[in-house]
Amino acid sequence: MTPHRLLLLIGLVALALLAGCSRSDALQQVLTDGELVVVSRNSPTTFYLDKGGAAGFEHDLAQLFAEALGVNLQMETAYSLNGIFRRLQRREAHIAAAGLSLTGARSAEFNHSTPYANLVPRVVYRTGKRKPSGLDDIEGLHLVVLAGSSHEQTLRDLQSAAWPELSWEAVRGADTMELLERVDSGSADIAVIDSNEFRMQQSLYSRLDVAFNLGSEQDMVWYFPPGDDYDALIDRADAFLAELQEDGRLAQLREQHFGHNTVLSRVGSHVFARNIRSKLPAYADLIRQVAEEYKLDWHLLAAIAYQESHWDPEATSPTGVRGMMMLTRPTAREMGVKDRLDPLQSLRGGARYLKNIRRRLPADISEPDRTWLALAAYNIGLAHLEDARVLTDQRGGDPHLWSDVLETLPLLQKREHYRTTRYGYARGGEAASFVQNIRHYYSILQWKDMSANQPGQPLDPMHFLPAALRGERFLAL
Ligand code: GLU
Repeated sequence: MTPHRLLLLIGLVALALLAGCSRSDALQQVLTDGELVVVSRNSPTTFYLDKGGAAGFEHDLAQLFAEALGVNLQMETAYSLNGIFRRLQRREAHIAAAGLSLTGARSAEFNHSTPYANLVPRVVYRTGKRKPSGLDDIEGLHLVVLAGSSHEQTLRDLQSAAWPELSWEAVRGADTMELLERVDSGSADIAVIDSNEFRMQQSLYSRLDVAFNLGSEQDMVWYFPPGDDYDALIDRADAFLAELQEDGRLAQLREQHFGHNTVLSRVGSHVFARNIRSKLPAYADLIRQVAEEYKLDWHLLAAIAYQESHWDPEATSPTGVRGMMMLTRPTAREMGVKDRLDPLQSLRGGARYLKNIRRRLPADISEPDRTWLALAAYNIGLAHLEDARVLTDQRGGDPHLWSDVLETLPLLQKREHYRTTRYGYARGGEAASFVQNIRHYYSILQWKDMSANQPGQPLDPMHFLPAALRGERFLAL
């Protein structure tokens, strides 16, 4: 080597070392900037906009981590799985949190956290058609997967190992609902989708079912950009996830987002009747007082409080919604509530919020629909309710009637519908159940009050409910 070349080499090595040193520690950077940038994808299982703003399993988890670090969360969206990893590669985000499976190829290229959930890749088909029993049985079937997904990688591996005939279509975008939509409409025969995503969306596609599993359980992890400048941030993330696992909050969060949705059945009604005796008396006067202040029917306010917290002033959800009326922090602030765990303040905040919304609805909506629609907006936000009313109108229904809007609300969860709306995906089915449950509690409370003024033995409230209500299966998601 000529001295000239040697000098050049030394120079290059020095430059590389310098570059390595100048890359500041990512954790330190996050703490100094006061901001954690997380890239996700817009989907019901990851990140979307809800009543209190941003929501979704990945959002809520990332939010808790940002809080633990004492920094703000900046949640960003990429429109494909490949786009998510491109952002990490370019170091435009600190973490990718998007229901991502741990794979060998990904971990060779990126840093990752310890697992915080498990999932099984499912092959889904439409019932009524032939149910394939395994990979040997899918010849000629049109198979769809998300482009850049772990499932595409699995299929590639299988193709080179033992199934050279295997073929599939990689669908661009990052929303698995698109895949379910394709199978449901018949434009594809089968799709590969994670078990948690399928469980959550299955009720919207009742014709779809699992044919078989594609391989075994996978771990869900956060990914970080490559490089050892991320070591400290990853250690903090792992410690945070371990703590959440330990104190049960992780399981709670998973249950809240991916668990089976509770259906209020007749059992629920009996629990309610029991709670009327055991819990309501302690708060009845307070509820009456606030209802009077805000000119609301106290049975209605009591019914909302029961739906929200089962009359528990200390109730807390993992997403940080709290108190008797389960107010989000921004709503509480807006309503002047300083202590959300104080039942009087919480009831006042909820009552004021409901009145505000009811007032803001178009003037030509009359009672009682006005109250039911206001309650739906109370749960899902005025913007999404407006979307549902527009959809109702487009489908030939009457957007002034709760019964018509009730039918449309769950469509806000279906891609073919929410992509045509202004504010996009929302948990409309949940808002529908929210209102229907409150109406149910409301009638029971009214009846109870009436019967208390009657002579003789109190009777089973179920006997006195209108027949339609008695038999009503409450809307499940
Ligand atoms: N878990 C998948 C992945 O890591 C994404 C979701 C899916 O395709 O069902 O790529």
